[in-house]
Amino acid sequence: MKITSRAVAESALLVLALLAAWAPPAPAAIEGWFATGIYPAIQRSLTPLSNRLPFALIDLLGAVAVGLAGMMLARAAVGSIRTRKPWPALQAVAHLAGAAAVTYLVFLLLWGLNYRRVPMTERLVLSAGSPSSDAVVQLGLQAAAQLNALHAAAHRSGWREPPWEDGALRRAFGEVQQFLSDAAPAAPGRLKRSALGYYFRWTGVDGMINPFGLEVLVNPDLLPLERPFVAAHEWAHLAGYADESEASFVGWLTCVRASSPSQYSGWLALYWQVSGEIGVEDRARVAGALAGGPRADVDAIAARIRRGEWPWLRDAGWRIYDDYLKANRVQEGVRSYGAVITLILRARFEEGWVPVRRRAGR
Ligand SMILES: [Zn+2]
Repeated sequence: MKITSRAVAESALLVLALLAAWAPPAPAAIEGWFATGIYPAIQRSLTPLSNRLPFALIDLLGAVAVGLAGMMLARAAVGSIRTRKPWPALQAVAHLAGAAAVTYLVFLLLWGLNYRRVPMTERLVLSAGSPSSDAVVQLGLQAAAQLNALHAAAHRSGWREPPWEDGALRRAFGEVQQFLSDAAPAAPGRLKRSALGYYFRWTGVDGMINPFGLEVLVNPDLLPLERPFVAAHEWAHLAGYADESEASFVGWLTCVRASSPSQYSGWLALYWQVSGEIGVEDRARVAGALAGGPRADVDAIAARIRRGEWPWLRDAGWRIYDDYLKANRVQEGVRSYGAVITLILRARFEEGWVPVRRRAGR
């Protein structure tokens, strides 16, 4: 086998991808040139474009990638069988490795580097130490009280569709971003259905973003009252908050500043999160604080998840996502979702849930 320029280029890409994975730049550098530098410009051009497509770009990209890889492997297999030599097959594997390296580098440059930015805990003024378990229960009780208070008004006005055209939610999202960063605010994304919707249904996933099109993909079964929070959470990912707890923090702050149906959606998500983090007795106490209306909404969400999910696939899916997060240096893996509670309890807020940012020397 002779060494071609293509082989040299593919080897170089592989080395570059490995370097990016194992020896990334420091968080402060990523925060400066990427997360608050070129990334907002990329997002503000790409998301408005993918918003115009009525279908999910990920479906098209996925189909093309699987088709091309399948064709190349089939041709290589035929070549190897006909010549009775391993080279065609080995060459195809090398090309696929090169393609995987390019895909990974594009992933990092379009969005993935956000995993390595300066964490929210270092950008906000926080109280010292982790919150007590009693504080977590108190937050759950506060969520229950808010749900009780908001239920009638939220149900009376109903949930505006589609959330990405809800002016109050969009405005709130812009304000929250300005509290947290000086970078240009991100463009909200349309909530799209995709072939991945089945996977979301079976594994109990609410949604995700497609890093190659900076578009929002959601579970098709979400109840209308869940959608404002899921939208705001995914928009936070679009704004470069890759970490799950940070996305939920931004999503919750956005919802509580928007209309009463969106506030209800935000407090419901927080109630759900707290319930998952506390013991059986405390959970019963927090659940006992819910009035009949919010109780019925919580039950409806639980029934929605139960109807759709395949438990074995759900467990396998969350294990894979845990590995993915850890590979992207999120040490807590899927446990990072729960860290939103710590963030809410430790952050210092001004009147109206305005988080206080840390300034130099503070
Ligand atoms: Zn998320």
